Order: sequence, then structure tokens, then C-alpha cells
Amino acid sequence: MQALGYYNGSFGELDEMTVPMTDRAVYYGDGVYEATPTRNFVIYAIDQHVERMFSSASMLRIAPPFDREWLKGELNRMVKQMDTGDNVLYWQLSRGTARRAHPFPADAKPNLMMMITPYKFPDLTEYVSAITEEDTRFLHCNIKTLNLIPSIMAMQKAREQGCYEAVLHRSGRVTECSKSNVSILKDGKLITAPLDNLILPGIARSHLIEGCGKNGIPVEERPYDLNELRSADEILITSSTSFLRRCVKLDGVSAGGRDEARFQALKNYVWERFVRATEKANG
Ligand code: PLP
Repeated sequence: MQALGYYNGSFGELDEMTVPMTDRAVYYGDGVYEATPTRNFVIYAIDQHVERMFSSASMLRIAPPFDREWLKGELNRMVKQMDTGDNVLYWQLSRGTARRAHPFPADAKPNLMMMITPYKFPDLTEYVSAITEEDTRFLHCNIKTLNLIPSIMAMQKAREQGCYEAVLHRSGRVTECSKSNVSILKDGKLITAPLDNLILPGIARSHLIEGCGKNGIPVEERPYDLNELRSADEILITSSTSFLRRCVKLDGVSAGGRDEARFQALKNYVWERFVRATEKANG
């Protein structure tokens, strides 16, 4: 298959798949999701993504009708049906199917949906630019819910200005980007927003922090503001599908790009970590 869809156990050509109108994901965005690349048919950081999905679901009081091992089995079944080993795998779990009413339906069973499409990994030696934008999202950004409208609006604005991302801030305090985390290097240290309700606990962010540990780079998890962002030595944008992108322009003005050695070390660490973890499975 070239692009595959899955809904509650049924597989099919992605563009031919449909979901019921009464899936609460359709009219409330009442669910959680995950996305990660695959390489050589190996799902990258599957345990971390599955764990975070269970954690997001639990914060929304959605009880998955399966355990982690079963889910990993279904995700792998999906990947194996593809023609290509290099893909993006997306999955979501909604609260269930019911007529529209705000309270949880009494007997709804969560719906599992997956999509997988071929993916060309980004060239991490190409540097990117970003805009800055007020973060108008709600106060539950630590939960990976389907409700992404402010992020979509911010991303669109970035793309219309020829930029890769929008760095979001709350009255000057940098939170994250529309679909990525953002961290900075300053005076040899990594500074990254703390894991609170204002940001998603990014898995690529965790790999970046791991890379700092391996390279003797101290990490400060603390709030930082737009002034620190603009005067950073490096601005590092991370996400599972984009790994680590070096941002060298903010709002049309040159920024970052001043700690080549640490940037290269971290970029190489996260990329090589991915390559190692997704070597062809034996047999
Ligand atoms: N922050 C937001 C708002 C996101 O949507 C994403 C990814 O979708 C991330 C951060 C990066 O998370 P991860 O590194 O787990 O892909």
C-alpha cells in the first residue's frame, strides 16, 4: 500500500477510508493523538509515543480499551503493510461514538484511528526561519489533544511569510512552536521552557536534552522570554518528524547561528540516535 488508513481494526487505502459522523473526534475534537516517523519499517521511539498517548488519554479521562502491547502490535501491523519503510505514522484515540452532547456518553467505546504515509526526512543542514506570535491556545497544552486551531492559524501565518514555524509566546514568555518545541543555546547552556501546562512534553525535546547530557552541555529548564530568544546563540526547533532544525531568522531578522560546534554536536546526536534506533530489524 502507498498510504494506509485504519479505523477500529479495518484497514484500507487512506483516501477511501471514512469515519462515522458521530465519532466525537469529528464534532468536538474529543480525543488525543500521536505522530512519529518510521524508517526501515521500524517505528521510532514507539514506547515514548505510546506512553504519552496513554498519559494524554488519562488526563482526558479516556480509558483505552486495549493495553500498550496491543497498540504497539496494531501500529506495527500497519507499518508492515506499506510498500515503503520510511513513513510518518499518525494515530488518534477519540472518546467514542455518540449523538452530540457535551457530557461523556455513558457507554461509548474509544475509537482508534491510524494513518500512514510515505515521508522524506528533512535535510537538517538546511536552516529555517520563524515568526513570533502570541500564544492564544488554552491552558492544557501538555495534553496532546486534537484541538489545534490556534496552532493551525499560527502555522499558516508563518507559511504565508515564507517561514518554517511560529514561535509562540504568552506576553513575551516563550512557550513552544505551533507543532514543535523550541529551545535556545546561550553561553554554552541549553535553555528550554519547563514541562508545565503551557507546552507539550516533546519527545524530540527529550532527545535533545539527552544529547546535551552526552555532550557536556548543561540544561536549564526554566521560562525564558522573547529577548533571550532574539539574543540566543542558537535557536533549536524540535519535533519527532523534523528532529532538530536550526532557526537562523526571527521575524525577518538574523538570529541564532552563533554556536556552530554545539549545534552540530546536538544535530548529529539526534539524527544518529534516530538512525541507530531504526536500523533494519533482523529477520
Ligand atoms: N509542541 C507541539 C504543540 C506539537 O504539536 C508537537 C508535535 O506535534 C511538539 C511540540 C513536538 O513533540 P514531539 O517532539 O513529541 O513530536
